[in-house]
Amino acid sequence: MCGIFGITNNKDAAHLTHLSLFALQHRGQESAGIASTLEGHMTSHSGMGIVSEVFSEKEILRLSGDSAIGHVRYSTTGSSHIKNAQPLVSNTRHGALALAHNGNLTNAAQIRRSLEEKGSIFHSSTDSEAILHLLAHNPGNLEEALIASLKAVEGAYSLAILTPDRLIACRDPHGFRPLVLGKLGNSYVVSSETTALTLIKADYVREIEPGEIVFIESGKVRSVKPLPQTPLARCVFEQVYFARPDSVVFGKSVQRVRQSLGRALAKEMKGFKADIVVPVPDSGVPAALGFSHESKIPFEVGLVRSHYVSRTFIRPNQEMRELAVDLKLSPVAEVLKGKRIVLVDDSIVRGTTSRKIANSLRAAGVLEIHMAISSPPIISACYYGIDTPRSETLIANHKNIDEIRKFLGVDSLHYLSLDAMLNAAKEGSSKDGFCTACFTKRYPTSIPEESSDNQLLSTN
Ligand code: 5GP
Ligand code: MG
Repeated sequence: MCGIFGITNNKDAAHLTHLSLFALQHRGQESAGIASTLEGHMTSHSGMGIVSEVFSEKEILRLSGDSAIGHVRYSTTGSSHIKNAQPLVSNTRHGALALAHNGNLTNAAQIRRSLEEKGSIFHSSTDSEAILHLLAHNPGNLEEALIASLKAVEGAYSLAILTPDRLIACRDPHGFRPLVLGKLGNSYVVSSETTALTLIKADYVREIEPGEIVFIESGKVRSVKPLPQTPLARCVFEQVYFARPDSVVFGKSVQRVRQSLGRALAKEMKGFKADIVVPVPDSGVPAALGFSHESKIPFEVGLVRSHYVSRTFIRPNQEMRELAVDLKLSPVAEVLKGKRIVLVDDSIVRGTTSRKIANSLRAAGVLEIHMAISSPPIISACYYGIDTPRSETLIANHKNIDEIRKFLGVDSLHYLSLDAMLNAAKEGSSKDGFCTACFTKRYPTSIPEESSDNQLLSTN
């Protein structure tokens, strides 16, 4: 997954982008980058690692300019490389251009193949580069070329594009990934999540709409909607797990949605007896709160998370991933000893983290572990940007609930139903239309074959 940000008409553009990338860091920890423009010149810096590792004060000062975009990224295995760090910057016939992409294109491999046949030379293994090449190939001015390019790509994209005289933001017609517009004095801001706006004290204006392209130029916003309309397919997993709880995503507070998911789970488990509700921090906390409020079973902090170990999924191999769980989560024996606990988490992907946690809870003297998951079983790969790349790696793809329960070593296992999840996610909002492909195998677009070729290309 990735996080993107952009700002125009601000003398502190790079500095504010840098700060905002900290707020979006949860969306990707593999690489970070910023591109800025001043009087027709484009400067950029990117590197591998988290924002604090990539940028020093020196780099931020060098990124002078009054407009900037930024990107944080994590990728699937195999394409963790500096060449794939964004923003992608190139010189095109439209002038210098920088591009930051969140989402995965599903037809990038075909586009790449056909452009390579025509002589294009790709520098990265990202799907995002296909958009740049299409922009360079398509006729007309930048706006016409962009519209033609977006008509050719399929899948998930929220984009921030920077040129010396404008910032462009677009969101694919399905609206898979979030993107919002904000305002800070005379500056317009775009961001994957509202938490970055809050940080830099920008006002939230609205969502960039699915299928919308916004041009921000000379302090003015112009919007066009030239792409064919498709049914909405906003990623429900943003609400379940991915986005930060202090963000408003798809018009809804993520914290509130997650609490509702927990409440709904408690309703589905009505009458269930246990001594305490324990969240798997941090992602399971809001749902555990909701569960506790609904069930009246007391909430307890039975696991403490170290914030000095980065996310387990970012670790390059299974062995490291398993070790990292012990480093990251530690049981509070005094709270847990002799207790029947409801252990609440947002999701189970591979099952390896949950199994480790169950083991250490037993070692800390827990009597019974009842695992409650605030989303349905993840049975199928995501092709739209979430890091669940191959179906075989998903435990619920090949095991039924009782087999998963045994694998995890827990006394019972409960998942939230699809209906209840969707009700919580759309509650109070007039629009529905979520992508639930990872839970249902119902993909809103055609999907790439699971080939090694496509593995290379699925990166955002
Ligand atoms: P598992 O037991 O499947 O190994 O890990 C489950 C944990 O992974 C849950 O706590 C969930 O919050 C977290 N998780 C779910 N999806 C993702 C993801 O795409 N990236 C990362 N880093 N963690 C995830
Ligand atoms: Mg988690």
